[in-house]
Amino acid sequence: MISVKEAKSIIQEKIFHLESEVVPLEKSNGRILHEDIIAKFSSPRFNNSAMDGFAVRSSDTIGASKQTPISLKNIGISSAGVPSDLVINKGECIQCMTGAKIPSGSDAVIMVEDTDGFSDNDNVQVMIEAQPGKHIRVKGEEINKGDILIPNRTPITASEIGICATFGYGELNVSKKPKIAIFGTGNELVEPGNNLNEGEIYNSNLYVFSDIVGNAGGEILMQDVLKDNKKYLKSFLSQALESCDVVISSGGVSMGRFDYVRDVFIELGVEEHFWKVAQKPGKPLFFGSGNKTLIFGLPGNPVSSYIGFMVWVWPILNEMMGGNTLNPIQGELIEPFPVENIKYRYLFGQAWIENGKILCKPSRKIGSHMLTSSLNANCILGAEPSDKKLNPGDLILVNLLPWKTIE
Ligand code: AMP
Ligand code: MG
Repeated sequence: MISVKEAKSIIQEKIFHLESEVVPLEKSNGRILHEDIIAKFSSPRFNNSAMDGFAVRSSDTIGASKQTPISLKNIGISSAGVPSDLVINKGECIQCMTGAKIPSGSDAVIMVEDTDGFSDNDNVQVMIEAQPGKHIRVKGEEINKGDILIPNRTPITASEIGICATFGYGELNVSKKPKIAIFGTGNELVEPGNNLNEGEIYNSNLYVFSDIVGNAGGEILMQDVLKDNKKYLKSFLSQALESCDVVISSGGVSMGRFDYVRDVFIELGVEEHFWKVAQKPGKPLFFGSGNKTLIFGLPGNPVSSYIGFMVWVWPILNEMMGGNTLNPIQGELIEPFPVENIKYRYLFGQAWIENGKILCKPSRKIGSHMLTSSLNANCILGAEPSDKKLNPGDLILVNLLPWKTIE
């Protein structure tokens, strides 16, 4: 049995990074960037109007008010996408719409509400003094050409997609998705939707895995529930080792008479790096590698499987894609936490913010078969092995579940 720290450093040595691929912008959501996104031009690209109104020379409007409007000659229109090449001379103005290029000679825009309105009349009555620069969005005021807009390794969400579109990127260089095989083992497992016979239970772990893989940005190529039978395991696994970057199993990896998963991995030539980790839940944790595949054998108890995936597999998938590491935060316990002497202890928990502090508490259901402990959880609390108890007021590591919020 090795410590959590040793196990993590062994995995670090075996991680490989996935190559990048080019995807259309609209397909890039949830992927991790493999390039810096650079501003190809300044933004705004040209001086343009922030309002629907009139481009004027501010000096022509001195003294204008509702009581003493000033009449300007209306010489044309500049609209978004159709700029005017007319030059505004003394006493003249141009109707200028939001986003339209500011015509030469103008140094301010007057809102249409401060005039007698748009019309085809020769003149317009201006009822306010224009301040120089007013309602003009200046070229380059937001971004300079060549600025790094989004650094390499950023996960792509609506904001990043919006910026890439703004600067004309139609496709992006992103990490390939890790190709994943997940499988469960157990003669007792039945798929939800069917009837249960004596001694049977429903397979829940693969449903949890499949959802997490999707959230992590992976792509499931193979998924199956297998009987505790070496022949089935071998046939599934040999194919998975050929075609997948990561293989993740649940169950069949402990000390039971019918726990064949580890044997089969080894028979298929997988190199075992460790098998037991000093943690609770989930001590029997197999980690091995094939030619170009990482293999995680997680124990079958639903909480061990779920927490095991989040603690051991999620960060690896993220790192393979080049994502930045998510570090745990610290929270203050409001209830005791059951620390273990020689094992790292994980439990689902709740964390929230109160008076500017992060407070947290573990689930009261502490059995590794009690999947309901995950229901109202937004985090996994983790404590180093120690003979010292953790009491209310003590700090503990809080690993937020990435798809949950803390409020
Ligand atoms: P094992 O690791 O195979 O010894 O399984 C440990 C416990 O987890 C047993 O009670 C199994 O019935 C249960 N279990 C194994 N696989 C699953 C699964 N896919 N879904 C739900 N429970 C499971
Ligand atoms: Mg089993």
